[in-house]
Amino acid sequence: MNAKSLLVVACFASAAAVAVAQPFDGPRTAANDAEPQQPPARPNPQPPPTPPPAPTGYQDTPMQPNGKWHIHDGTRPQPIVVKPGAMQPAPPPADAIVLLGAGTDLSKWQMTQGGGAVGWPIADGVLSSGRGMIRTKQDDFTDYQLHVEFATPSEVKGDSQGRGNSGVFLNAVFEIQVLDSFNNKTYPDGQASAMYGQFPPMVNASRGPGEWQSYDIVFSAPRFSGTTLEKPAMVTVLHNGVAVHNQRAFWGPTAHKAIPPYEPSNAKGFIGLQDHGNPVRFRNIWIRPLKADE
Ligand code: MG
Repeated sequence: MNAKSLLVVACFASAAAVAVAQPFDGPRTAANDAEPQQPPARPNPQPPPTPPPAPTGYQDTPMQPNGKWHIHDGTRPQPIVVKPGAMQPAPPPADAIVLLGAGTDLSKWQMTQGGGAVGWPIADGVLSSGRGMIRTKQDDFTDYQLHVEFATPSEVKGDSQGRGNSGVFLNAVFEIQVLDSFNNKTYPDGQASAMYGQFPPMVNASRGPGEWQSYDIVFSAPRFSGTTLEKPAMVTVLHNGVAVHNQRAFWGPTAHKAIPPYEPSNAKGFIGLQDHGNPVRFRNIWIRPLKADE
């Protein structure tokens, strides 16, 4: 495992453990590595190394529990592209908790690591991802309907997992991936709206770089009897109004190159937004807690 892989592992493992280490800052570029102030030390200096392209899949990872594919299997069929309809406004219903509204109010959020005030820039209701993951202060969500709008960077940089990467974390540990998946090949279980490392979306309903997109997520928390899992976490997801997961069960919490076992603490949790080193914008986030069957 190379250094970058270790950092990515740290990023996801830390998300699962809530105690989050600083995620990596994305691929270094030749421009970042250059030292423009210094004259060349040699007549013909070597150009700075170009970072290799990000991997688009793995065959050396464990098999998923149903034995069909490796985790992050690059040979798994790519979801077909379905062009979504026009973006529709989705104002919060009257009974929703507005997590991110029209102004600059971040009172519902905190940094995941350390619990301090959110350091991500915000203006006119648009929050841009910055250093460190953020989470809702409320940490006892269970079953809910969640609406999130996001936009990956207009300026396309990087490839595969290095392009427009962020994520929406459900109950702190179950990630619905955010990525620029518009003409950007990656492993299918890691593309936009994937249940990261577990299930690709049924189709690729991504819009282009810089365009606003939406996730509408209906999530049911896992149920436990003591320490025994009775019912896994279940999710239905619409990406830009197109169903991409239909009551799918998570095999366990999200990780990179792994699927850890469930833990009773997964029964409730916060909503988290991931910093993966790419500036992704968010707006209009609201949640409606749902009643369990009585
Ligand atoms: Mg992500």
